[in-house]
This record gives sequence, structure tokens and C-alpha cells, in this order.
Amino acid sequence: MRIVLMGPPGAGKGTQAKMLVERFGLEHLSSGDIFRAEKASGSELGQRLSGIMARGELVPDDIVVEMMAKAIAAVSGGLLLDGFPRTLAQAKALDETLGQAGLPLDGVVIITADDDAIVERITGRRSCESTGRIYHVKYMPPKVEGVDDETGEPLVQREDDKEDVIRQRLDTYKKQTEPVIAYYRDGGTAAVVEVDGMRSPDEVAESMARALTTWQS
Ligand code: AMP
Repeated sequence: MRIVLMGPPGAGKGTQAKMLVERFGLEHLSSGDIFRAEKASGSELGQRLSGIMARGELVPDDIVVEMMAKAIAAVSGGLLLDGFPRTLAQAKALDETLGQAGLPLDGVVIITADDDAIVERITGRRSCESTGRIYHVKYMPPKVEGVDDETGEPLVQREDDKEDVIRQRLDTYKKQTEPVIAYYRDGGTAAVVEVDGMRSPDEVAESMARALTTWQS
């Protein structure tokens, strides 16, 4: 199965992706994670990505498409794309990559959430850099404030999780990524389902699992 997971920043894509990966045996490819790893490597490209991400802007399509095509080519089984595609050009490039391999998309899941809830969710988000575990200061606090439950390492706030950057990212989502949803709805062969991300993570997971189970059969 090849699935695209979409939704504004803070809609819960990361949390839900983990659930889908475990339940359906998919490989999770998050473009944001791939770019953060490049940034952490300290490469020249990583330094360029770092500035773009800190401002809440999108990484240029040619870079995204090349890096994601490479990552996709390394996956042999089911695939869950998270955070990619985010522009029409990326969506078309993805169709081409998968089409050439004879492995088209099966479905697109869109998680929706309203802007104010997103800002509250994201500004409270903290994560552990080495394990990738994500917490929320109010909704999913660690056992001991400020440190990871297992490793005890300090939790950090992503630079692009500050409020002004989030507002910028929401604006970018509306302008550049919402047209991708219309593209899949109007022209694509993949099934499209929208789930309400304002419910509890378990309820959201249940709705998503129902859709994927249908696509699987
Ligand atoms: P995310 O973790 O998905 O919220 O991504 C973090 C940041 O990485 C975004 O704000 C963008 O700057 C960049 N990014 C991630 N995925 C893409 C993409 N598909 N196209 C362009 N930029 C992206």
C-alpha cells in the first residue's frame, strides 16, 4: 500500500503516522524528518535547509523532489509519505516517480484541524532529539518536566514551532498545499479521505484505520 498523509502542521500527522506504520506495516517517510537529518549532518545543503525551515518557508521543489525520490526508491514494501507532497509540482513529480515504477498511490488521508487549536498544540510541543519522542507540555507531558521519559535527555522546542513561524507555516499550507488536495480529489486515481483531527488521537486513528482497511482489500 502506498499512502500520502496530509494536513496542516500540528494536525497530528506524526502521531498518526506512527500508528499507521505499526498497524499496517508501512515504511514511514517524513520529508520534515529527512530534512532535519540533513540539517543535523551539518552539510552545506543542511545549512541551507536550516534557514528555510526556521523561517517556516518551503524547501524548493527541485531539492524536495530529488531527496524524496531517492528515499522512495530505497523502500521496497508499503509506504507512508508524511509531509510530501506539499506543492502541485511535487504531487506531479510523485505521480511520475510512482507511475514509472508501476506502483501508483492507493490513498490520500487528510487530517483537518482549526488554526487556533494548531497554534496551541504546536507551541506546546517538545521533543527529544535523539529518540524523536514527542510530548506536549499540557496534553502529553513527560513524567518529569523537561526531560525524556526513557533517556532523561532534555526536551527541546523546534525553532519552527514558535508562534510567528507557525502562522507563516499555516499560511503556506493554505496557499501551496491545499491546491494539492484539490488535485487529488479532482484528477487522481487514489482514494481520498478526510478525517477530523480535532478528536482524540485514538478516535482519529480509528477513522484512519477504517479507510486504510478498505483500501487494502
Ligand atoms: P514538517 O516536519 O513536515 O512540518 O516540516 C518541517 C519543515 O520542513 C517545513 O516547514 C518546510 O520548511 C520543510 N518541508 C518539509 N516537507 C516539505 C516539502 N514537501 N516541501 C517543502 N518543504 C518541506
